[in-house]
Amino acid sequence: MNDVLPEAIARWHRVERAFREISTRYGYTEVRTPIVEPTQLFVRSIGEATDIVEKEMYTFEDRGEGMLTLRPEGTAGAVRAFVEHAVSGREPISKWSYLGPMFRRERPQRGRYRQFWQAGLECFGDPGPHVDAEMIELVVTLLASLGVQDLEVLVNSLGSGDTRARYRDALTKYFEPNRDRLSPESQRRLVANPLRILDSKSPVDRELSAGAPSLLEFLDDADREHFDELQRALTALDVKFRVEPTLVRGLDYYSRTLFEVQGRGGELGAQNTICGGGRYDGLVKELGGPDVPSIGFAAGIERILLVMGGEDRAPTIDVAVAVADAALRVDASVLLRDLRAAGLVADGDLRGQSLKSQLRRADKLGAKVVLVLGPAETERGVVQLKDLAAHSSSEVPRAEVVARVRDRVRESA
Ligand code: ATP
Ligand code: MG
Repeated sequence: MNDVLPEAIARWHRVERAFREISTRYGYTEVRTPIVEPTQLFVRSIGEATDIVEKEMYTFEDRGEGMLTLRPEGTAGAVRAFVEHAVSGREPISKWSYLGPMFRRERPQRGRYRQFWQAGLECFGDPGPHVDAEMIELVVTLLASLGVQDLEVLVNSLGSGDTRARYRDALTKYFEPNRDRLSPESQRRLVANPLRILDSKSPVDRELSAGAPSLLEFLDDADREHFDELQRALTALDVKFRVEPTLVRGLDYYSRTLFEVQGRGGELGAQNTICGGGRYDGLVKELGGPDVPSIGFAAGIERILLVMGGEDRAPTIDVAVAVADAALRVDASVLLRDLRAAGLVADGDLRGQSLKSQLRRADKLGAKVVLVLGPAETERGVVQLKDLAAHSSSEVPRAEVVARVRDRVRESA
C-alpha cells in the first residue's frame, strides 16, 4: 500500500481530471459506493473459483454482525447499488463512473499493490455491441489524452447462454490428458472452472493453453453477429484492435464482449494490463435485480502512471507576502486573506524569520510577485511590490495592491 506524497500528486490529478472530463463527455456520471461490502456480494458476483475470492480478499468479521470485505473491485458494489435503489425502474440506460481505492492481498511487485486505485465505468441497460465499442474507444481516447503511446487493444467474446458451458466441457476434455503437467492450481481449476486455466500465469499452463480449442468456435449465431458488429464499429471508430481468443479475464461474471488494453512501453514490465472490461449481462439478475444487460471496465491508475507521458511542473504560488518587521504579521495575514479572496494563490512565512529568509522562501515557492510590508510604508498606506521576474520594485497603495497583483499575474499567465 502506497503513500502518495504532495510532490507526486500533480500526476494523479492529471489522470483523475482526464478520466472525469472524458467520462462526462460520453454521458457518464459518478457513483460513490462504500469501500466495504458484505463478503457474500463479492463471492457471488466475482465467483468462487477466482484468484480474488480464493486468496486476495481482505475479509473480517464485523463484531458478530457478519463478514465484510474491503472491495477488491468496483462492479459488485455498483451493481448492488443499482439493484438496491431500483434504478432501472426510473431510466432505461444508466451510465455510471467511479474512481477510488481497491484492495487485494497480492504479492506486491511493480504495478501490483495491495491497495491500488481504479477508474471505471458501468453502463447498465444497453445490450450492445455499439455501446461496447463506444466504451473501448473511450478508454483509448483517455489513454491517448494522457500521452500513453504504445498500447494494444485485445477483444474477445465469451458468448452467452450455454456457449460457456459447452466450451467448458471442451476445455475439460482438452486438458484432462495433460492434467498432471498443469500447475497445482490449474489442476484444481480443471474441476472448478477450466476457463481460468487460460488466464494462468504459469509457463506450463500457458504452453498447454496455446493449443486449446478456441472459444470463438463455440459462439452461436447471435453471439457471432454481436461480436462481428462490435468489430465493425471499432473499425469505423478508428480503434486498432486484435482478436485474442484466449482472453478470458479473471472474473466469472463476464459474457459476450471482453476487452483488455495492454501497454507496451514505460516501466510496466510484467504488469502490462492497464485496463480490463467486459459485458456482464447476467450479473444484475444474479444479484437480485431485473434482467439488465450491462458492460463495464476498470483501469488501474498506478499502471497508467507508469506509462503516461508529459511533465508535471511542481505547483507554484502567484504571490508571497513578507514582513520587514515581525510586528506587521497581522497586517500580512489580512493582506493574504484579501489576495486569496481575489482568487490568487498566495502564501507567506509568518514565523518571524528575517526578511532575507522570507524572500528566499518566496523565490523557492515560485512566486511571481512578493509584497513586502515595512513599518514606514505601512505608516504611509503603501506596500512594496517586488516583481521577481522583471527584477523591479515599486510602491503601491495598499487599497490598490490586490488589483495590481491580479493584473500582473494575469499578464504572465
Ligand atoms: P492482473 O491479471 O494484472 O492481475 P486483473 O485481471 O486481476 O489483472 P482486473 O481485476 O481486471 O485485473 O482489474 C482491472 C485493472 O486494475 C487491471 O488491468 C490493472 O490495471 C488494475 N489492477 C488490478 N490489480 C491490481 C493491483 N494489485 N495493483 C495495481 N493495479 C491493479
Ligand atoms: Mg489479478
